[in-house]
Amino acid sequence: MSPGDQATTRDGAPLANRHAVVTGGGRGIGAAVAAELARLGADITIMGRDAETLRRRREALSGECGGQVFDVVVDVTDGAAVARAFEWADNMLGPVEILVNNAGAAASAPFARTDPELWRSMIEVNLTGPFLCCRAALPSMIERGWGRIVNIASTAGVTGYAYVSAYCAAKHGVVGLTRALARELARKGVTVNAVCPGYTDTDMAEAAVRNIVETTGRDEAAARAELVRSNPQGRLVDPAEVARTVGWLALPGTDAVTGQAVVVAGGEVMP
Ligand code: NDP
Repeated sequence: MSPGDQATTRDGAPLANRHAVVTGGGRGIGAAVAAELARLGADITIMGRDAETLRRRREALSGECGGQVFDVVVDVTDGAAVARAFEWADNMLGPVEILVNNAGAAASAPFARTDPELWRSMIEVNLTGPFLCCRAALPSMIERGWGRIVNIASTAGVTGYAYVSAYCAAKHGVVGLTRALARELARKGVTVNAVCPGYTDTDMAEAAVRNIVETTGRDEAAARAELVRSNPQGRLVDPAEVARTVGWLALPGTDAVTGQAVVVAGGEVMP
């Protein structure tokens, strides 16, 4: 495909020439989100800690879409590194107009075994990370009068689950951050929403299966069945389903949708 063809492909795409950052965009839900935003025409920067994962995803994505794709290695819990990463991304593709705070991790433990270290690690990656990325991306969104922030929370951001108190607290925090920022930015042209998936078919769900096997002694099929049972549709959510919800929230014309926690979980939670 020649550069001219690429421009034609993107002409009329709803997010053409918009710069989107997806944290944790190298795999799982983040990779699906990056692909969806690219399909909608955006230029993409994916961020994560593993250079090789990011490189592979960038190369795959560059081949699939007409826009530009960059990757930056950064740990979202490191404030100085986040500031540098966003500065670099701004220099490469222009000011960030769409920010998807997707990077996250889930560790489970009964509350009695939830020590301060586990607590802090869950808060740092799932809540402080989005805070730091919002700080880095927001000034230019406000200045330009247009922006979209989508925080990937979880059903654990709108209801409680046993054995994941630190993760639940962090994800409830993300929903709180979303709502507060949405109000604060309501007249600035920037919408802020949370997307709350149920168990989704990624490495994270695989880790949950392994954890059930290890802690209960059940076999893998039984462990997987337990995850699936939590969803009234009797299945895991597909990352692409989460991605399409994010894509919709990023579109022009969704300006009145802000401060919402959109649950993508087959009816498991109805807040
Ligand atoms: P994965 O474990 O498959 O991927 C996690 C992603 O986050 C990876 O790209 C990882 O990249 C990145 N990441 C983790 N820690 C950091 C960090 N400190 N700095 C930068 N990047 C980081 O998870 P999912 O795709 O399943 O999850 C994505 C989001 O969706 C998370 O916020 C999760 O809580 C949420 N979610 C997932 C559900 C599920 O069942 N899968 C259900 C509900 C919510 P790398 O390791 O290279 O840094």
